[in-house]
Amino acid sequence: MKKILADYNISELKDFFVSMGEKSFRAEQVFRSIHSGLKFSEMTDLSKSLREKLTEEFIDIPIEILKSIKSVDGTEKFLYKLSDGNVIEGVLMRYKYGNTLCVSTQVGCRMNCAFCASGLSGLIRNLSAGEILGQVIVVNRYLNGGLKDKREISNVVLMGSGEPLDNYDNTVKFLRLLSDDKGLNISNRNVSLSTCGLVDKMLRLADENVSINLTVSLHSPFDEERKKIMPIANAYKISDILSACQKYFDKTGRRYIFEYLLIDGENNLPRHADELIRILKGKPCHVNLIRLNEVKEKNLKGVTEKEAYRFMGLLVKGGLSATLRRRTGDDIDGACGQLRRRFIEENL
Ligand code: SAH
Repeated sequence: MKKILADYNISELKDFFVSMGEKSFRAEQVFRSIHSGLKFSEMTDLSKSLREKLTEEFIDIPIEILKSIKSVDGTEKFLYKLSDGNVIEGVLMRYKYGNTLCVSTQVGCRMNCAFCASGLSGLIRNLSAGEILGQVIVVNRYLNGGLKDKREISNVVLMGSGEPLDNYDNTVKFLRLLSDDKGLNISNRNVSLSTCGLVDKMLRLADENVSINLTVSLHSPFDEERKKIMPIANAYKISDILSACQKYFDKTGRRYIFEYLLIDGENNLPRHADELIRILKGKPCHVNLIRLNEVKEKNLKGVTEKEAYRFMGLLVKGGLSATLRRRTGDDIDGACGQLRRRFIEENL
């Protein structure tokens, strides 16, 4: 099987080029080209024979855009094809401060959360660092029309399909590749990683020296009720998640965020708000409320905008920092593995 060149950092590329008798400056040159989205055939600053050698051994860009769908609000959804034929999806959100790309870290997911479409067929496989990065590379090129070194994406969120910390090494390598100043140079401060709360990996991440924004999908303040929504809650207690967040804050100084998906009758009652206030008050955190995007295979109901604001009001009155996430891309299967599922169903 061919290796993926986008998986390599500069020092690995240097070792490789030196080992094949090439000058070490080729490493930075090829790194820049790959991160600009160039195929080997487009790297005209390399000799033809070197390009041929690279093509024999490596895949250049490990992902391509299969389809893009634009919402009336500017949100754009992408369906990508990986080099082994697997299909994943991503979303581009256009904000005043810049473009944010939501990336996937796995094909499928093994967490099987009650509300989420990504876990419906389980985990197919992990994405490599270069495949996660590849999503940013191809959308950046799509946006900049092929102008080398023109960066159109300023922010990245790891909130697509998969559990990033379940694919720990590749995710951390991706974060380092993404922030490399010889490549896309997207600072870790502009990156948010969302986890279902894998406590041991959160603790490890605190020691990695990557100052990304840590986001945890909480969805209930009660362990027993959380287990019904998120099976992973059988493995980790909320109190341990909170301690891991505190360690992350102590190490990085970064405020952390809790995502809270409002599911009607399940986690949106006054007692849920009271308990959230009790466990989170005074902590350097923010609560991001999300309205459920109903998934046809799942039997869960969302809440109206009015109900969501009412719940938010309870949290704010209790002293928490809380906001309701703006809903974008509703008309294009905006979230969470639904586009990929539809594509697979229609093409089987
Ligand atoms: N595994 C990670 C990242 C992927 S999910 C995690 O659990 O955080 C990221 C977020 O997508 C989740 O917090 C959830 O709030 C949101 N999400 C998943 N399914 C959704 C749905 N049906 N409607 C709205 N948001 C959803």
